[in-house]
Amino acid sequence: MDTYRVQPGDKIKLNKWDPDGGEVAEIGKKAGNKEMLKLNDRLEALQELLYAESKQKVLIVLQAMDTGGKDGAIRHVFDGVNPQGVRVASFKVPTPEEQAHDYLWRVHKQTPGSGEMVIFNRSHYEDVLVVRVHELVPKAVWSRRYEQINNFERMLAEEGTTILKFYLHISPDEQKERLQARLDEPHKNWKFSTGDLAERKRWAEYMQAYEDMLSKTSTKWAPWYIIPANRKWLRNLLMSQIIVDALEGLDMKYPEPEEGLDKVVIE
Ligand code: ADP
Repeated sequence: MDTYRVQPGDKIKLNKWDPDGGEVAEIGKKAGNKEMLKLNDRLEALQELLYAESKQKVLIVLQAMDTGGKDGAIRHVFDGVNPQGVRVASFKVPTPEEQAHDYLWRVHKQTPGSGEMVIFNRSHYEDVLVVRVHELVPKAVWSRRYEQINNFERMLAEEGTTILKFYLHISPDEQKERLQARLDEPHKNWKFSTGDLAERKRWAEYMQAYEDMLSKTSTKWAPWYIIPANRKWLRNLLMSQIIVDALEGLDMKYPEPEEGLDKVVIE
């Protein structure tokens, strides 16, 4: 899974990353989905352990272009986990109250507590993406945010949070198809926003912003993974594998049971 991980200092050029997945896609959808079921079971068990042990905190950050598949990834990768210990936090256009504060204020409040797993559907990275592309703040302001974000995430990591960040990489052609499907299929109409077409026109500017984000904010303590996301099954499979591997590396244990349980008799 290291192939997908951005190493600190890497200078990312996204046109070198195949959104179809290349060789790994050869395992095929059928075998991939079979593997996915096993990973779902493992993630379910690991999340129960995380919740039971209640020591570690896990933060998963998802970023993508419109139609990139954040919602689908959340539905499939976390299929079967216990909603008691897992939460999704979605970041939209800031409210007036959020706007009145620094950009990390609303984010910090949503970070996971002990035993919890939180999925960020969009994140503080919007503040170096949409904010940059639309020049919502001057360059002098957004350009210092990379370092601020690295420091913020380092603090979270030092305080016991495991951070995994995923950029779901799709091609402009794939986006076109997915937008078209939202127009053509009545049950998908609600997802269509004409605003997405304006953003699509700025594809190149977004890619530049994503490349800088990936190059400047993939750290030892909070790495980015670039996930080929044109194929939904492959996207889900790779994300699941990376999350399962990371959780298995945490060496979690169930809390010690009370002493003498073997002598307890329930009458
Ligand atoms: P999604 O596309 O994630 O399903 P929405 O359609 O509600 O959800 O889009 C959320 C919108 O909020 C996106 O257009 C995103 O760029 C915007 N947004 C998120 N954070 C910020 C921010 N800090 N500043 C400006 N816009 C933001």
